[in-house]
Amino acid sequence: MRQWLSLLMLSQTVTLAMAGEQQSHHHDHHDAGAAAHSNPAHSSHNHAAHTHGIADLRVAMSEGVVEIEFESPAANLIGFEHPAQTPQEQQRVRAAEERLSDHDSLFQFKGTQCTLETMSLDLSHLAYSGEDHEDHPVSSEVHSNVMAHYAFTCDALEAIESISIELQTYFKQIETLKVMWVYDHHQGQINLTEKRHTLSLGR
Ligand SMILES: [Zn+2]
Repeated sequence: MRQWLSLLMLSQTVTLAMAGEQQSHHHDHHDAGAAAHSNPAHSSHNHAAHTHGIADLRVAMSEGVVEIEFESPAANLIGFEHPAQTPQEQQRVRAAEERLSDHDSLFQFKGTQCTLETMSLDLSHLAYSGEDHEDHPVSSEVHSNVMAHYAFTCDALEAIESISIELQTYFKQIETLKVMWVYDHHQGQINLTEKRHTLSLGR
């Protein structure tokens, strides 16, 4: 799964540092100790540098499989980045989780039929902590990201024409979705907006 990321890194030196950070992010994320950490400011989801309004999508297509990795500042999805403290905030986390799980509404393939094989999504760092925060106001300095990963198998990937990406239809705070894609030996980058949200792949 990481092979294609390495491919991107080879040609996109600008993203090298970011990709490295994501690698370590993944590592930390699976560390039970880090996940259980009670202070969000020190959690593995805390990214010092991310820009609200921008999110990243990495799409890798090869051998009948389309892998999609989405990473966004939590603010783009739920409007805040601290663990939910009120029923309203809890509801926003749940709604984002439901929408991100609804892969059919987010990704529409043209030219081939694709079926979801695996999906992983974790918003647990934003879930209600059950703690009384009155004495510990949440710092606005806290930043956290949300990541989602999808893998589809497609019956005729060689015939794929485009992928319509609807993330910005539902998450209006994502002004720019930076898409990096790899399709066999081709690759490219495109910035999508709510109005222009189709990744064209026809050859
Ligand atoms: Zn932030």
